[in-house]
Amino acid sequence: MLNYGAPGVYRRRIGEIEVIALSDGFLDVPFDVIRDIDSRDAGRILTAEFRPSPPRVAINAFALRTGGRVALIEAGAGTSMGPTLGRLSRNLEAAGIDPARVDAVLLTHMHPDHSNGLSDEKGNALFPNAELVVHDHDVAHWLDDGRMAQATERQRVRYFQAARVQLSRYRLRLRTFQGGEVFPGVTALPIPGHTPGHTAFLIASGGETLLIWGDTVHVPELQVAHPEITMSFDSDPQAAAKMRHYLFDMAVSDRLLVGGMHLHFPGFAHLAREGTGYRLVGEPWILGQ
Ligand SMILES: [Zn+2]
Repeated sequence: MLNYGAPGVYRRRIGEIEVIALSDGFLDVPFDVIRDIDSRDAGRILTAEFRPSPPRVAINAFALRTGGRVALIEAGAGTSMGPTLGRLSRNLEAAGIDPARVDAVLLTHMHPDHSNGLSDEKGNALFPNAELVVHDHDVAHWLDDGRMAQATERQRVRYFQAARVQLSRYRLRLRTFQGGEVFPGVTALPIPGHTPGHTAFLIASGGETLLIWGDTVHVPELQVAHPEITMSFDSDPQAAAKMRHYLFDMAVSDRLLVGGMHLHFPGFAHLAREGTGYRLVGEPWILGQ
């Protein structure tokens, strides 16, 4: 476990709901997972943006407190993806959130950096009293033996088996959805593509709104200006790109604050249109909230 110094915890409010951004750490990802752009072009963009190349991807989760209830959106990677990740449990502690008091864990989708942190290596559920709330199509996809048989060995182990392990540990507390309100003030907005059940969550309270868009963007410097850039681990890359355009348009038209699992911590930003693409405007820290 690397020592990062200050905890990755950042609080803001959306109306009556307290939203706490929590860092799980970061991951350096190789260029070969990035599709639809030449690695040299991608490297040039990252260098021009003063970012490491190949890209360093932030992994964030968000906790919500409302009306005495606590939800966590994503569970991080746990110990499954190396020493630069797995910070979520320490950051929850720093934020004063007891995992046993988490009422629901909402997942935007089941991928190792989002769901492996649901339990420890010994098989203990780390959120012993929480419902696990996931889109129906993600659960069906990862439990589909036919699809698993067609997957590559890497996909079988890294995605299908890992998701099955977590689902088995929460099977008595699993709640699937197809849309609608999934937690007080939180509406699920399915955006299938990155995975079949990939879902954004719209958080609304007191006239304020936050769109937590999951993995709509993995590498902001590349995919915001060029939404057509996809990832090798998108289940359906074309649909993922289409949903990215759709959410970008929505964020611009409605001037929405967005929260991203892979936007640089704490992961809050607005989106503006620029040329044929878009531009991300990070929300400054310290808002007096
Ligand atoms: Zn992810």
